[in-house]
Amino acid sequence: MADIDVRIEEFDVVIVGAGGAGLAAAIETGGSKLKTAVVSEVYPTRSHTVSAQGGINAALANMDEDYWIWHMYDTVKGGDYIGDQDAMEFFTKNAPKTIIELEHWGMPFSRIENGKAYQRAFGGQTRNFGESLAHRAVACSDRSGHAMLHTLFERTLHQDIAPYVSYYSEYYALELLMDKEERRPIGIVAWDMVNGGIHIFFSYAVIFATGGNTRNFRTNTNAHVNTGIGWTMCLKAGIAIKDPEFIQFHPTGIYGVGNLITEGVRGEGGYLLNAKGERFMKTYAPHVLDLASRDVVSRGMAMEVLEGRGVGPKKDHCLLKLDHLGHDFIMDKLPGIWELAYKFVGVDCTKDPIPVQPTAHYHMGGIPTNVDAEVVDWDGEKEVPIPGLYAAGECACASVHGGNRLGCNSLLDLVVTGKQAGRNCARWIIEEKPVFPNPPEEFIADKYAKGIIDRIKGYYEGGEGTVSMDAIWEDLRDTMQENVSVFRIEEKIAAQVKKLDEYEKQFKEVGLTDKGLTFNTELAEIFDLESLLYVSRVETEAALARKESRGAHSRDDYPERDDENWMKHTFTKIDENGKVEIEYVPVRTKPLTAPTFQPKKRVY
Ligand SMILES: Cc1cc2nc3c(=O)[nH]c(=O)nc-3n(C[C@H](O)[C@H](O)[C@H](O)COP(=O)(O)OP(=O)(O)OC[C@H]3O[C@@H](n4cnc5c(N)ncnc54)[C@H](O)[C@@H]3O)c2cc1C
Repeated sequence: MADIDVRIEEFDVVIVGAGGAGLAAAIETGGSKLKTAVVSEVYPTRSHTVSAQGGINAALANMDEDYWIWHMYDTVKGGDYIGDQDAMEFFTKNAPKTIIELEHWGMPFSRIENGKAYQRAFGGQTRNFGESLAHRAVACSDRSGHAMLHTLFERTLHQDIAPYVSYYSEYYALELLMDKEERRPIGIVAWDMVNGGIHIFFSYAVIFATGGNTRNFRTNTNAHVNTGIGWTMCLKAGIAIKDPEFIQFHPTGIYGVGNLITEGVRGEGGYLLNAKGERFMKTYAPHVLDLASRDVVSRGMAMEVLEGRGVGPKKDHCLLKLDHLGHDFIMDKLPGIWELAYKFVGVDCTKDPIPVQPTAHYHMGGIPTNVDAEVVDWDGEKEVPIPGLYAAGECACASVHGGNRLGCNSLLDLVVTGKQAGRNCARWIIEEKPVFPNPPEEFIADKYAKGIIDRIKGYYEGGEGTVSMDAIWEDLRDTMQENVSVFRIEEKIAAQVKKLDEYEKQFKEVGLTDKGLTFNTELAEIFDLESLLYVSRVETEAALARKESRGAHSRDDYPERDDENWMKHTFTKIDENGKVEIEYVPVRTKPLTAPTFQPKKRVY
């Protein structure tokens, strides 16, 4: 084949990912007149944020008395006390003004009669430190993510921002370029999916906003692009992933397909039933029933199935009943849900219950950051920021969600941490005036992208491979679902570690059958699978190592939370030989101004 085309560009900032977090960051860097490249595998408004349904939490007190400190308490408790309380304070305190800003940018929130934004109840959200349920989530019907993503995208087109923001849509990011001596990023390498060819972006700073990565599970809610490339780029560059064992299983994925039915259904009064028609959540969360946090509800459902009270011929799922809310209410507040249930399982939810099962949904862990959204290393004693490297949104871990995220806290996270990343990045470039990485032209392709160019060339010039990529991927999804699921146990997790050894060996035998340069989705899928193998590796090994149950990490063999030994974060790296190294890092228990919320038994 002809040589692979290599193009080089220079920007002040490169943002990888154009979902809510990437766009919030671009609004800040572009608004600070920094030349910003936003690199995304899909057109920005196709990012997974578009599919968020339920809403965004903020203590606006539009419907009942509310304060950010109550929101913070719920977030600390929901995260099972492993969240970093400085970040949690910043996050919940900034929520109301974030929503008002989104509203000023044109986000069309659902309203109540006095004109203020409507707020719905959501799991784990309470008033007065757990006393009663709170109505805290603002929403745009059940299409909140759609409205938010379009609002943010439009904002980047504002006349003061647009001249500074360049979109590189349908570019597949592959590698983070680091100056190893100074340990700072100098740009990224991406694959131009439309034309084929390598694009090297040099920049002062890089912001990761690559979203979630549950495509390694059989049943999941995530978009096809959610394959964890941000984690993988960091792992390959020697940067840790924090708390990868905390994977959220959302209670109500549509049975058999995984698509999400928002918790907002339960927030509006829907509830779960077992095969006997019993409202079983009264056993697991006697006070708030179906509005307990997601880990608690998912475990309740799994218990019903394990004890033989599951629904259907296989007795393997539950039912979500909402017809009692009434046809008109459902069509007004939950029209997207009606459509999803009708299209995917042929259920008219104004008449019949929706079959549901827990589905892999979200990562609490991610690229480790401090409250300023700077990516950090752990030096054995303290967190040390890597100058010029930032991360925000679902791929990052500040950690504002601890061991279990509360519903409607993620959309908030995107805007709060996205803006933090963009703002602090702009401040660093403008105030610290770092030197632009400027390697001589002739060295560039050789020094910075040789490995990846050779690898891609190898695929084009090599054979069609002896192992099918599909077969590995399909098996990976089944075994992750089986072994690293809602309930975990030593022997199964250890079996998954062995499975991953096999997959990694097999992956080396995968080849490219489509040798075209234009939109070679097979090449993209090879990198997707590689990334999911990295993701699965850190998730599985961190899950094996954590010998307690906390938040979404539930070990049958260690059923209790163990604060004495395990109230600490996992920092997981992969060395050059593919071996996982784990270090443990203390939780930042001291908030910025609020008193510390001390660990307590978590009951709902
Ligand atoms: C179905 C569903 C419903 C949800 N509902 C809610 C809700 O109601 N409330 C709430 O708070 N949270 C909700 N969540 C969670 C929340 O929506 C997500 O956590 C959040 O949208 C993630 O946003 P992000 O900006 O971090 O990433 P995303 O929106 O996922 O964007 C990731 C970006 O990274 C880019 N990217 C990925 N790989 C590559 C690559 N290789 N090269 C280049 N670019 C790449 C993609 O193109 C994309 O632009 C929901 C999630 C799902 C899946």
